[in-house]
Amino acid sequence: MQHFPLIPRLKRIFSSKRIVEEVQWHKLKRKPVENELNHPADGEAWKDFDRKYGWFAEDARNIRLGLATDGFNPFGKMSSSYSMWPVFLIPYNFPPWECVEQSNFIMGLLIPGRECPRKDIDVFLEPLVEEFLELWKGVPTVDALSEKKFDLHAAVIWCIHDYPALSTLSGRVTRGYYACVHCDKNPCSKRIRNKICYIGHRRFLPRAHPWRRSKVFDGNVENREKPKKFTTDELMEQLERVKDVRPGKHPKSKKRKRGKEGPCWKQRSCLWDLPYWSSLKLRHNLDVMHIEKNICEYILGTFLGTAGKSKDGINSRLDLEDMGIRKHLHLIRDGDSYSTPHAPYTMTKTQKEHFCDFLKSVKFPDGYASNLATCVTADGCNLQGLKTHDCHILLQRIIPAAVRGIMHMDIYEALAELGNFFQQLCAKTLKLDVLERLKADIPIILCKLEKIFPPSFFDVMLHLAIHLPEEAILRGPVQYGWMYPVERRLLTLKRFVRNMARPEGSIAEAYVAAECLTICSRYFDDDVETRHNQEGRNRERVAIVRGDLSVFQHGADVLGAPSLTYLEHDYEKMVWFVLNNCPEVEPYIEYVSPSTIFIVSCNLVISPNV
Ligand SMILES: [Zn+2]
Repeated sequence: MQHFPLIPRLKRIFSSKRIVEEVQWHKLKRKPVENELNHPADGEAWKDFDRKYGWFAEDARNIRLGLATDGFNPFGKMSSSYSMWPVFLIPYNFPPWECVEQSNFIMGLLIPGRECPRKDIDVFLEPLVEEFLELWKGVPTVDALSEKKFDLHAAVIWCIHDYPALSTLSGRVTRGYYACVHCDKNPCSKRIRNKICYIGHRRFLPRAHPWRRSKVFDGNVENREKPKKFTTDELMEQLERVKDVRPGKHPKSKKRKRGKEGPCWKQRSCLWDLPYWSSLKLRHNLDVMHIEKNICEYILGTFLGTAGKSKDGINSRLDLEDMGIRKHLHLIRDGDSYSTPHAPYTMTKTQKEHFCDFLKSVKFPDGYASNLATCVTADGCNLQGLKTHDCHILLQRIIPAAVRGIMHMDIYEALAELGNFFQQLCAKTLKLDVLERLKADIPIILCKLEKIFPPSFFDVMLHLAIHLPEEAILRGPVQYGWMYPVERRLLTLKRFVRNMARPEGSIAEAYVAAECLTICSRYFDDDVETRHNQEGRNRERVAIVRGDLSVFQHGADVLGAPSLTYLEHDYEKMVWFVLNNCPEVEPYIEYVSPSTIFIVSCNLVISPNV
């Protein structure tokens, strides 16, 4: 295993005056706005940590770290069974534009393949945990800005990983009846024909909600309370039961009896050895990136009837029969044979063609998304090779627009609300009142989906959406706890592999060299171009020139030679766009209704020279 000592690298942060200033940004320069979440420091988890450990919060130089890990295959498609696990530490003290910047990621460990470490990960984490313990006590460090010695402290505030890795790292069960890490008691899981599904989101609705008395959901009235979490004492008691479970093939581990440990925890992770770990409000983040990807794949798979991904099948129809609901979808038996009636949540061939034609025709702004037209299969009836970011765009923006007019209005409404939910949740700046509203809205959205799709559609990923607003209130904006930056970092590591026989050695050597160069480049002035001062592909934060309308100040560079084209047919659209996207026009809109604006824009067409 490759271990890259953390303490000397944290100390090195304080050898540059510029970085010392940036490290203290979260306390000295951040301007918190009431009701707004811009940085993890605005989140409830950070504030709660400050209240509990006042001495730690007092010195802005003390570093808060996020621990991120995931497995990856350095050989790409050449070998299907190789899983290498780097462990990254992400310092959160920096301002938002530097916080999840790749060059700030510190690789602490590189756990070698060929197999996924699973529960043995504790053994690998041991050297890192030792360093965390030392950092909690304090490490003497010299501050370049004040040129004085001080005791540097650091703490891990949460972990970032996908859902299977959550189980590996935390020792919490993420499969079966207790798969949801937030629902410890009476979870929403239910056994159906060939799997366990997560239905019954009416439990999250208020007691008096009319849907609780309806029988269209699962044939029953819902009187149960929403699932509960363990209290700290109960959690400690659960962990006490599994404290003897050891990693690896230990002779004692064979003797333990199943069921004695309780259903939720299979192991006590070594992270619990950290003195502050039990008092953290958010230990493990749910990864919004993978949740969005899975939900999008379920929806598309079911709509388009993709083999192996569709949630509609004979078993799902039998589930409906078992529950005694939606009789028009039950199997029609004729002697020994049977037929499946068409369900509104699947598309006919013509609908599929219309849907895929729409996806092909969508045009995006530069750098917003990849070209979705390349994902449509040759027969024009299906999609293939969707990346996680494609799913992110599809779920939030494209699917609701694409199904409108093609599918039933109920389906469109539910998907539009789901898309809107994720859109507001993934905003760069979150508002507390919006999050509270999302928290109340998501059970209704899931109930609407329960009315449309069969029970087999609802696996734990859909259920996890219900806990996302709660986590966002604790953590702050989603981009500080999702996997996108981590996955990008993994791709960089993958490119470091030169010697296929020694992938870990290649990565370690190239990583150390790249880190040295990055540190050196921080000492250059701004007139030397380094990776820290490169201008982005699209310019951001363009200062508005007085007298010009903001709608024309998009800040994008135009490529190629200019040419003037007069689009007579699109004139009406352009006027409509300018009127509806220009904040300067807003005071006038207050006096007239939106329909009047449209009429105004149409009248303008008569005299295009105006
Ligand atoms: Zn749950």
